[in-house]
Amino acid sequence: MSLVNDEAVVLRLSDFSETSQVATLLSRRHGKLRLLAKGARRSTKERFVPGLDLLEWGDVLYRPARGDGQLGTLAEWKQRELFLGLRDSLAAAQFAQYAAEITTMLVAEDDPHATLFEALLTLLGGLAGEDAAGGQRDGGSLERRQRPASSADTPSTLMFARRLVGYQQTLISEIGLMPQLDACVACGRERAAGRAAYFSPKSGGVICRSCAAERGDRLRLMKAPALDLLLRTAESDGLVDSAELAPVDLGDAVKLALVCFEFLDECMRRAAERETQLSAACARLIRREAPGSP
Ligand SMILES: [Zn+2]
Repeated sequence: MSLVNDEAVVLRLSDFSETSQVATLLSRRHGKLRLLAKGARRSTKERFVPGLDLLEWGDVLYRPARGDGQLGTLAEWKQRELFLGLRDSLAAAQFAQYAAEITTMLVAEDDPHATLFEALLTLLGGLAGEDAAGGQRDGGSLERRQRPASSADTPSTLMFARRLVGYQQTLISEIGLMPQLDACVACGRERAAGRAAYFSPKSGGVICRSCAAERGDRLRLMKAPALDLLLRTAESDGLVDSAELAPVDLGDAVKLALVCFEFLDECMRRAAERETQLSAACARLIRREAPGSP
């Protein structure tokens, strides 16, 4: 089979043998790829391909897998950007790793998601503090997606959390799992903006008060600000508009970001039927931003 080229972000690296690794990548045109990278382990003296780093963005040349469940082979990797700024903040690093984790978990192989790829680049650039440079990529398509920061005194972890929620939402929408938030999934009655509603993870959406009374599955009450935020974000292409959505009170803003993060994380865990390893750490980092927390 002939070689294929694409651009990609490194989501995961796992050791395969003494001298090789399996690299899981999200590529722009070919979706998630799992490639055997011979000689990629750092300990080896002889390298056939340069060592890959987690969360870096580059150009990939690879030989596709021969069949289902098989690995493709990495032929060449040329780094474009390392997102070095991710190392400057614990929250940036953890949120980026969490994004890589959920992407690896939920995106199927051979299922291209160009929008998601773009969203991942935007997230990594934002977490790394490289927004200003981001507009140069791909004829400014990233620039269009950037939103102005809300206010100078908003803690960066909270800003990062909003970006992460935006990415979670893009991922969920892209794989077709976005819960229905604007109307009851049982009877179809519309939920008015500003109204709380019960949420049923099992049935994939909100449940109105009267339907909730008749149901047996566990329901959780979602307050209006979180539902409205998630809904507006879904309508605006999966991006949290931090300028519009920054509540005046910092404590409220943290609570809102946390509720949205945990809600979307739960949707993803249910879809994948497994836990996310980094979600608890991310939630802790967000919670810590609330005034008065230790
Ligand atoms: Zn109903």
